[in-house]
Amino acid sequence: MKVSKRKCIDFHTPYGIAKFMTFNGFIDKHEHFALIFMNAHLREKPLVRVHSECITGDVFNSEHCDCGNQLNEALDIFSKIGGILLYMRQEGRGVGLYNKIDAYALQSVGIDTFAANRMLDLPEDSRDFEPAAAMLKAMGVERIELLSNNPDKSLALEKFGIVVSSMRNTSVFQKEKNMNYLQAKKEISGHQINIKRGTKNEA
Ligand SMILES: [Zn+2]
Repeated sequence: MKVSKRKCIDFHTPYGIAKFMTFNGFIDKHEHFALIFMNAHLREKPLVRVHSECITGDVFNSEHCDCGNQLNEALDIFSKIGGILLYMRQEGRGVGLYNKIDAYALQSVGIDTFAANRMLDLPEDSRDFEPAAAMLKAMGVERIELLSNNPDKSLALEKFGIVVSSMRNTSVFQKEKNMNYLQAKKEISGHQINIKRGTKNEA
């Protein structure tokens, strides 16, 4: 997949002025976009966060996951040292909002996030990282430091030609409602996180 820059504007946020960049050429027809802080795309190895859309977490700070916290943490880091946020419009790990809410219904009776998707006959994770790699290439970035706890994300980007020369871990945001979600991330998806019951924001 080859994408090209479409438009780039100065975008004013509480985290400072970012560049809001849009693109042409996505095969999946989604409107993925990039927020670039401190012209990080011009650096040799910018810090990058690939964030998949989560309306419940990003917009409403849902207690069911840690997406909103991770997004805010990334923006906070980027406001201080620069970086690139790739905001991927693949809600619910790619299965969509309604399916995610169906899965939440199963999780409310104690079934973990991955098992719930299996019961609904949904893929555990249908996120596609090719558009993210294509966006980086469109802005001339081929080597990055990845802000993530997820080794699979690094492998997925490398598969599409991006060199991930190092990873910087994010914080872990524990809440009463998201313990099972975090546990599944750690045990089933191999996320590099420590979870301590009864504590908060343990890195
Ligand atoms: Zn979420």
